[in-house]
This record gives sequence, C-alpha cells and structure tokens, in this order.
Amino acid sequence: MKMKAAVVTQDSNGNVDLVERDIRPLENGEALVEVEYCGVCHTDLHVAAGDFGQKPGRVLGHEGIGIVKEVFPGVTSLKPGDRVSIAWLYKSCGGCEYCVTGRETLCRRVVNSGYTADGAMATHCIVYADYAVKVPEGLDPAQASSITCAGVTCYKAIKVSGVQPGQWIAIYGAGGLGNLAVQYAKKVFGAHVVAVDINDDKLALAQEVGADLVVNPSKEDAARFIQEKTGGAHAAVVTAVSRAAFNSSVDCVRAGGRVVAVGLPSEKMDLSIPRLVLDGIEVIGSLVGTRKDLEEAFQFGAEGLVVPVVQTRSLDETNAIFQEMRDGKIQGRMVIDMKKGCCCSHS
Ligand code: NAD
Ligand code: ZN
Ligand code: ZN
Repeated sequence: MKMKAAVVTQDSNGNVDLVERDIRPLENGEALVEVEYCGVCHTDLHVAAGDFGQKPGRVLGHEGIGIVKEVFPGVTSLKPGDRVSIAWLYKSCGGCEYCVTGRETLCRRVVNSGYTADGAMATHCIVYADYAVKVPEGLDPAQASSITCAGVTCYKAIKVSGVQPGQWIAIYGAGGLGNLAVQYAKKVFGAHVVAVDINDDKLALAQEVGADLVVNPSKEDAARFIQEKTGGAHAAVVTAVSRAAFNSSVDCVRAGGRVVAVGLPSEKMDLSIPRLVLDGIEVIGSLVGTRKDLEEAFQFGAEGLVVPVVQTRSLDETNAIFQEMRDGKIQGRMVIDMKKGCCCSHS
C-alpha cells in the first residue's frame, strides 16, 4: 500500500517535497493510522530548515489526528476504529529517571514524530500504540489536531508557570500556540491575560478569545506597558520566535515572577544577573506535554472551554502554508485536511 507524504527536501531548504511512498509493515507495538488532519506547527518550519540538524526525507508533522486501521498482534491499547493523536512524543524509553518521574518528554532516548520518526503530514502514519492518545468524543478532529501540539504545549507551560487564579500572565506571541495559551490561561487556569504580538490581527483574535489586555511591541515597550497596567505579570509564557520577546518577558514580570520559555528561536537571550538575583526571577523551559497532559488538554477542548481557531487546506499546499506562517499571516492554526484535494489513489 502507498501513502502520500510531505517530506523535508534533500538540502533542508525549509520546504517540503510531496512524495509517494510505500507503507512499511507494522512492527511490535505499532499501529497504522489513516491520518485525517495534521496541523502545521512552527516547529515543522524549524525541522524543514535544519535548525535542529538536517533531516532530509523525513516525513514532517506532529499535530496529527487519524483513525486506527490496523494494529500489530498483541497491541491492546488501541483497536481499529479508534481516533488517536500523533504528537511530538512518538515514544520514550519508559524506564529512565525522566520517564518514571512524569517527565517523559525529557527522556534521553525519546523519539519525536516528524523529527526523528516519520510524522503525520501524510495520508498514513505508523505510531507506537501506547503513545497515541485517544481523542475524546465530542471534540472536532480538526480542532483536536491543533491541541495535539499547540494546545498541550501551552497547557503544560501554564502549569509550569504556576500562575494562580486571578493573577496576571503575559503570553508573548499570539500565533498558533499563543492563541491557545490565551484560552487555557483564561478559561482553565482563571488567570488575567495580557497578549503580546507584533501583528495587530493576532492581537484582535487574542482579544476575541479572552485576552484582557493586548500590546504590540513594535509600537510601544511591552514590558513597560505590562508593568504599568498590572504591577508586573506574575508569570510569562514566551511562544514568539524572537529573542526580543524573550528579553522583554524577563522585564515584564514582577519580583518572584516566572518566565516559561517555549518558542525556539536559534538564539541566546540576555539575562541581567542583578535582575535575576535581586528580584528572584525564575526562567524555565517547557517542552510539549506528557500523554497525561494531552489527555487533559483534549478534555478541556471536548468540554468547549477551549475552542481552537483552525482553517483547513490540502497537503499539496504545505509549502504555501509554510510561507504564510513565516510571513505571520495565519490566524490561529492552519490544518492540513488529508481528504482535501485528494485523488484517493492512495486508499
Ligand atoms: P506561529 O508562527 O504560529 O506564532 C508565532 C507568533 O509570534 C506569531 O504570531 C508572530 O507574529 C509572533 N511574534 C514574532 N515576533 C514577535 C515578537 N518580537 N514579540 C511578540 N510576538 C512575536 O508559531 P507557533 O506554531 O505558535 O510556534 C511558536 C514557537 O514555539 C516556534 O519556535 C515553535 O518551534 C515553538 N514550539 C515549541 C514547543 C515546545 O514544546 N516548547 C512546542 C511547539 C512549538
Ligand atoms: Zn509543534
Ligand atoms: Zn526514558
């Protein structure tokens, strides 16, 4: 059987080639998923451009949702017909200090979809069954796709931020991740939210989904604005692919504030040592979420507390979507619908 897939180009130039490939036979513990939707995450752009090492020929995609078609004999966690996710956490070792202490995404032997394993930007994907999280009833699969990375990453990062109900959190970057961060912060954690983005359209959408305040750092000093309006945020989550945003986030929090780094610009941030020490500022990274975090993040979507803003396109349009993302033109998340523009020759 064949599949159609978007793979990193041979020279990792930031684009994909659309190819037809054989689907390999399943191995122990695996399941074959027919992909319905796959969201485009900014991380796909980083992988396609070789920002974390060159991955020519790799099938991208870690915001996949699909239906299980077949499982390897002995697999009990999934059955044909189940709707499941294909997330960044493809598989971890299950036995190391990270895996046994609820930090499986930090496993040193982790395998990641669309990076070190073939991912979900394809009509079909092979998953490791125990790591494919089931999508709850009542959650639209295209919306579920954007929760599979963007949603769970922000949900987890806000957990890590320690923000309490009624406190202020600053969300830097109001794109695919940031729009969902605003929603989780506001609707699930009961925080007051200030959204920061260089694009007014994203700020307008952030306000629509619940941001109390918005600020555009290309027009005014965001950290000063946040200090003046809130007395300093209690926490900040930085999803912007920008060093300037990371630097500003450290200045926007009050004493004792915590900055959670999520975005992945290939740069270094400035940290004033006196600011860190005298004001007791914490800076910590947060990487996607565990399977349990994803189950929880899905559930808030199924209950309608969080409503991902998604638009759908076809797999053939992947390079155009990448360019729109680079240009900051996408509102919410662009999701590839595998059935759109499909000739059905693969099924
Ligand atoms: P996106 O392109 O949809 O959103 C990025 C947003 O940042 C855009 O709205 C853009 O206008 C805004 N922005 C750019 N410069 C800014 C600035 N100086 N100040 C404020 N906002 C600014 O991307 P995304 O899919 O939301 O991903 C964001 C980043 O998060 C990427 O680097 C991605 O690789 C990373 N990521 C990390 C994790 C993790 O586990 N830590 C998971 C998923 C994605
Ligand atoms: Zn992602
Ligand atoms: Zn491990």
